[in-house]
Amino acid sequence: MTTYYDENRDKLIANQRAYYQANKDKINEKARKSKIICECGSSIPKGHEKRHYDTKKHQNFLISKSDYLTSFHYETSENNTDDNTKS
Ligand SMILES: [Zn+2]
Repeated sequence: MTTYYDENRDKLIANQRAYYQANKDKINEKARKSKIICECGSSIPKGHEKRHYDTKKHQNFLISKSDYLTSFHYETSENNTDDNTKS
């Protein structure tokens, strides 16, 4: 006699895989949250934001950004960080 699991084995495995894939993203995201991706593109350890804001790299970014802002309104979205951290 076949069990429910036997009959739906492929389906269950596929579901499990899909769940794992979805979960994997969340796990990665969680790990990512210990670091902050600054709008300048740098990844900063959490708690070091203020120190980072004084760095030359960030200051240069702010300068180039303010130049940018004079021409049109540019909104930095948090979604922008996704591309930086996928690798
Ligand atoms: Zn920065």
